[in-house]
Amino acid sequence: MIKLGLMGGTFNPIHNGHLMCARIAAETVKLDEVLFLPDGEPPHKSNSTLESGVSRFNMTALAVWGQPGFTCSDLEIRRSGTTYTVDTLTELKRTRPDATLYYIIGSDTLYQIGKWRQPQSIAQLCALIVIPRPASEENAAELARQAARLREELGFEIHIASESGPAISSTAVRTMAAEGKPLSDVVPQPVADYIAQHGLYGAPLHQMTCQLSQTLSPHRLSHTLSVAETAVSLAARFGENPCQAHLAGMLHDCAKGLDAPTLLQLIRSGGISADEVELSMPALLHAPAGAALAREQYHVTDAAVLSAIRWHTTGRRNMTRLEKIIYLADMIEPERADFPGLDEIRAQSLVDLDKAVALAAARSAEYVLERGKKLHPRTMELARDNSTRV
Ligand code: FE
Ligand code: FE
Repeated sequence: MIKLGLMGGTFNPIHNGHLMCARIAAETVKLDEVLFLPDGEPPHKSNSTLESGVSRFNMTALAVWGQPGFTCSDLEIRRSGTTYTVDTLTELKRTRPDATLYYIIGSDTLYQIGKWRQPQSIAQLCALIVIPRPASEENAAELARQAARLREELGFEIHIASESGPAISSTAVRTMAAEGKPLSDVVPQPVADYIAQHGLYGAPLHQMTCQLSQTLSPHRLSHTLSVAETAVSLAARFGENPCQAHLAGMLHDCAKGLDAPTLLQLIRSGGISADEVELSMPALLHAPAGAALAREQYHVTDAAVLSAIRWHTTGRRNMTRLEKIIYLADMIEPERADFPGLDEIRAQSLVDLDKAVALAAARSAEYVLERGKKLHPRTMELARDNSTRV
């Protein structure tokens, strides 16, 4: 059995204090993994500054990426209606039968948990790891008495960590964001970037978003932000680097809206190879030109990101996982106008990346051919290759 710690919360936004508490908890009982679970619609908070579940989940995914032993799940944000801990624990017991569950809470929650829905069931499903508040604010003797009461009355297994959590709050982070203060000391850098790029909590917009807004129409910019958001969620779901997915999503259409001579010039000067078919179809030029522009004007040096931008329109055979994520995110982002088969692709994107990409390529090929337009052979190949797999 592995020891699985569960870190629930609204994470509005996630900050360094959450990560530190998770580390303290992991140390306390030698956890193998800590799973971060952003709340859907928490029963105990009604908050007008609450960002969408997708935004809070994406920031969580960016925060835990590359942190050994830390993972995240969108289990709660995808569940409709009010989130109850007992439901989440029951579901995790079913989906993770290999794991002993440890629910990580702050000490103030220890005084409330007896009033939560089905506390006795919670006590059966998991143990608790309690992170005390800083010593000056905590009454250690009272906390120990409360733990003893819950052990006695409801049968909880309770571990109180010897270290307390740091004094950072999401409220303070939101205030700092709104005031335009740098957030890199209080949240992981990718989270600070995400907040600024999407202008969350009233933060002044990041330079990249401002630069994009100078060449993209408001509609295209909104699509871009939505693709970036969707790409992070897909990356988190399928084990890809969410930071790369976000950057590629942000810049995938950076060359859109430029005229054909400019696009051709970018492709030439960037040394990007484009085939004859592509060069003869203006609608396709922004993908190779976008890769050149991302490198030149947005200073992207990551070849994987540039490649995802390069192939986002036509797709190609044997795409990398990141390329598939951007190709798919472009097609399924929530603002995308409806087309036949979109719901099916979206449903598949929750389960199987390859099947979702295959469906997307097939629908895209049908769409183009039905309108009597020319289809790039690469899209045709992708749709044909994958049609046997679906
Ligand atoms: Fe595009
Ligand atoms: Fe696009």
